[in-house]
Amino acid sequence: MLQLFRLLLPFRASVAVVLVLALAQSLANLYLPRLMADIVDFGIVPGDAGKILEIGGLMLLVAVLGTLCAVAGSYAASKVATGFGRVLRGRIFDRVAHFSVHQFDRFSTASLITRTTNDTTQVQQVLLMLLSMAISAPMMAIGGVTLSLSQDARLARVLIGVIPVLGAVFFLIMWKAVPLFQQMQHKIDRLNLVLDEGLSGVRVIRAFDRGADQSRRFDQANDDVTGTAISVNRLMALLMPAMFLMMNLTSVLILWFGAVRIDAGEMHVGAMMASLQYAIQILFAVFMVTAVFVMLPRAAASAERINAVLDVTPDVVDPAQAANVASRTKGQVEFQNVTFQYAGAEEPALCGVSFTALAGEVTAIIGGTGSGKSTLAGLIPRFYDVNEGRVLVDGVDVRDLRQEDLRARIGYVPQKAVLFSGTVASNIRFGHDTATDEEIRHAAAVAQAAEFIDQLPAGYDSPVSQGGTNLSGGQKQRLAIARAVARRAEIYVFDDSFSALDFATDARLRAALNADLAAATVFIVSQRIGTVMNADRIVVLDDGRVAGMGRHAELLKTCEVYRQIAESQASLEEVA
Ligand code: ADP
Ligand code: MG
Repeated sequence: MLQLFRLLLPFRASVAVVLVLALAQSLANLYLPRLMADIVDFGIVPGDAGKILEIGGLMLLVAVLGTLCAVAGSYAASKVATGFGRVLRGRIFDRVAHFSVHQFDRFSTASLITRTTNDTTQVQQVLLMLLSMAISAPMMAIGGVTLSLSQDARLARVLIGVIPVLGAVFFLIMWKAVPLFQQMQHKIDRLNLVLDEGLSGVRVIRAFDRGADQSRRFDQANDDVTGTAISVNRLMALLMPAMFLMMNLTSVLILWFGAVRIDAGEMHVGAMMASLQYAIQILFAVFMVTAVFVMLPRAAASAERINAVLDVTPDVVDPAQAANVASRTKGQVEFQNVTFQYAGAEEPALCGVSFTALAGEVTAIIGGTGSGKSTLAGLIPRFYDVNEGRVLVDGVDVRDLRQEDLRARIGYVPQKAVLFSGTVASNIRFGHDTATDEEIRHAAAVAQAAEFIDQLPAGYDSPVSQGGTNLSGGQKQRLAIARAVARRAEIYVFDDSFSALDFATDARLRAALNADLAAATVFIVSQRIGTVMNADRIVVLDDGRVAGMGRHAELLKTCEVYRQIAESQASLEEVA
């Protein structure tokens, strides 16, 4: 909570303006009934036209000033609240952008989206309410009671009796509504999750003919949100009539007792009218305060959810004193006895892995599915921090480098090619902002993508849809490779990046990479013997451990795991 308040600090000047305007508006509102009493008692009743004009003019002035303050106040309050929402969303996004890959696993994407949008809106709305109520509600309530006491003490007792009753009614309604409000956010999360899965998995859903099932899931989540919303709104709907009932009852009481007292000559008509107005103002203030209290719990639940994101301290952080990279520019990568375990996993994904990859060489990583290849590849750009041992780049622990400096030296191609909406060229340029068209073409040529790009209707300016869904798997992989090649890095990591390519393209690609990345440290992760057999060094992974290391010919003799992989694929190679 404190954290959120701190975000409000830059708005303190505007908040002060809002509060001053609210104060002025409240004073005007409190002054008007007083003037009304005067105009009735000293102008209308005695029939003094001059007085009527004089007081009437004053009333008009006060009313206009009050209205101006009200308009300016709500304008300023809206500006503060929306500005605050903007800052808050920015903060959440910023924090999420610095999440380590681990920390992403803690929140679902859907939940992060709800938190950034819906939850921020809740907080923003309650802030707006608070800003407009913070001064005026207490002023109206306390000022109203005091002034109506000054008008007529006996009549004011009616009010003092009504307020607690009203408070109790509102409290009861609130008490019922609060838990429902808290459920709402949770259910909206769920709705977003189902929606997200339904949209991103649409092909699989169609293929397995689970559309009806998916619709049912969505309907259920949707009904769930609707049900809760209806329950909440039903309760909230009670508030208004309850409030009007109380107002009218109070008016009747005041008129009743007022009439009796006026009859007895103990009170003026104007004073009674003023009392009536104060009563309405006071009840309205109580109503507003209740409304804030109704919104508070939902906003508090939202604030808590926002804080849960803001409170995450990134676990992959830059060192206080970054090691100097300028003097070392080779790209040698060394794993020293590395053990790594995913948060919440039972067993380490990598265990005691040691090897050195030299610049100018190709280091291949081979192993079965789940043997830890992608995990190993992800440790080089420091997506995770190791549990034991060290990953060194040119002799410097990656944890001693600034992430930006480290990653600037790495061209990484993920196992699952990820493209962004834009054009073919913009996706390749993602690896290197300032790349010239010539460089883009060269990268595409190395990645064996030039041919298919040239066949696209608009060539390099052809659109790529979100996630690259308008391209084939192999085309996506080649664009992802071109993106990395365009980077002109010292270290290249190809995580199973050739798996969607046919053998011939795979071979041509590797030959082109060999020529183009001759000076770099290249990691090729694969399950195919054909892809790794020409590497300078092959690391064989089995269940997170190094089962063997060396060249193809040696490993065939010395490493059982390697030989088995080779044998199982031998016939395939022959066919190819
Ligand atoms: P490979 O790339 O060789 O197929 P991975 O490195 O992806 O294997 O996975 C190695 C092991 O780590 C597997 O047992 C897998 O289940 C586990 N693993 C991978 N990613 C995660 C994750 N994000 N959280 C927990 N366990 C994971
Ligand atoms: Mg993998």
